Amino acid sequence: MPIDPVCWMHVDRNSEIRTEYSGQTYYFCSLRCKQEFEKNLKNYLGVKSPMKMPENGTG
Ligand SMILES: [Zn+2]
Repeated sequence: MPIDPVCWMHVDRNSEIRTEYSGQTYYFCSLRCKQEFEKNLKNYLGVKSPMKMPENGTG
């Protein structure tokens, strides 16, 4: 199952929200993530594993 490279959600392979880059297809949960991806391509390309989300301990 494809993973949204921006927010790391699992995305349906039939999702229409996707983009192709360098022969690779990337799927997104929303247009917002797609736009974010295209805006910050360099941040997302070559990333193989999810970045650790900082646990927010305040509160
Ligand atoms: Zn997303």
